[in-house]
Amino acid sequence: MKKNNPLATRTPIYRDTGFHLVDIPTMQQAFANEHDYSRNPELYIYGRYRNPNVAAAEEMIMEIEGSQWSVLAQSGLAAIDIALSIFQEHDNPGSWLFFSEIYGGTNHFIDNVLIKRRGMDIHRFFPDGDEYSIEKFEATLRELRPKVVLFEAISNPMLITLNGDRFIEVAKRYGARVIVDNTFATPFLWKPLDSGADIVLHSATKYLAGHGSISAGVLSGNCPELEKAALEYRKLVGHMLSPDDAARLCEQLKTFDLRFQQHCHNAFELAKFLSNHSKIEKVLYPGLPTHTTHTNAVNLFGSKGYGAIITFDIEGKNPDEKQKRCNQFINLVKDHILLVPTLGDADTILMPIEPVWGDKYPFPGMIRLSVGIENTEWLINLISQALNSLD
Ligand code: PLP
Repeated sequence: MKKNNPLATRTPIYRDTGFHLVDIPTMQQAFANEHDYSRNPELYIYGRYRNPNVAAAEEMIMEIEGSQWSVLAQSGLAAIDIALSIFQEHDNPGSWLFFSEIYGGTNHFIDNVLIKRRGMDIHRFFPDGDEYSIEKFEATLRELRPKVVLFEAISNPMLITLNGDRFIEVAKRYGARVIVDNTFATPFLWKPLDSGADIVLHSATKYLAGHGSISAGVLSGNCPELEKAALEYRKLVGHMLSPDDAARLCEQLKTFDLRFQQHCHNAFELAKFLSNHSKIEKVLYPGLPTHTTHTNAVNLFGSKGYGAIITFDIEGKNPDEKQKRCNQFINLVKDHILLVPTLGDADTILMPIEPVWGDKYPFPGMIRLSVGIENTEWLINLISQALNSLD
């Protein structure tokens, strides 16, 4: 598209819902081509099918992910719906295995759509305490022979990190299709396709877009049949991203590497600071040797970083004191660190754990921090001052 626009340095925004096909032979050609689902169609037909801005953003993600194809959707959950639905076959349903510590919205999708509406045979794989056991995983695969396995490399909010390469290798040995939701680790830290995963997906709403201002999802892979199936399913159910959001995503993707590097740097420095502070009881961060899955994080990510989420517990003699100090801390920082129920923004944001996760994590002094890309010293000073002022 760029080549046809000598004045433009980036793909102009194509808001057309239907594209101009000039004459009858061109229209016939466009519809004939459509069945090929080629990556760069010569002719566009209808906005819900394909769009040049969406294709341009997909090209950028392919480069970042190192994938043969990427398909964008209007949210992370839409990408999850596409990734899961393309493996669903009426005459070969099979059993599907999901790791238990995955995004709550994905768990609700599994319960309310896959099980309740689509009647699928779903199984959950639970960690042993704070870690997933590869031996138990293999035993489960031997018995269940699941058709599809889905996991996240870093869990939320306890940040359990698994050695994804080994889990993929074992799952593939037992013939499963492997889907990795890599939203928290991002391609900066790990590329599951290089280890044999069939599909990697992201809530691009988070680090890929990175500014808390675009809702988007993306799935990527290397197998052409899966690409075709993903493009067809997106068209059938209408999970298309808007051209405006795709164009903004293109701009924001240019700084993804730089941003994520700074996210990880800030989080690591802050985690070290917090773990040495007297008002902090516990810090969960995969980059700290005290995290139960630190070795997995080192094996999987090497020295690139450990992500940008920190979960920490404020010190207190009893639950009431913890709760009081937690509220006090949030009030002290809330003009700079806003309470926002998401993650991956360029600004540091936070969520108290108990009001959000309830009975699952009934820890009144616990906070999840999504660390941004601010100046490191400024951020640590802000948090240090708030902690030092606690009763
Ligand atoms: N996957 C993970 C790991 C997430 O954290 C989220 C949202 O928080 C999603 C998927 C869903 O993404 P979206 O909110 O863009 O639909």
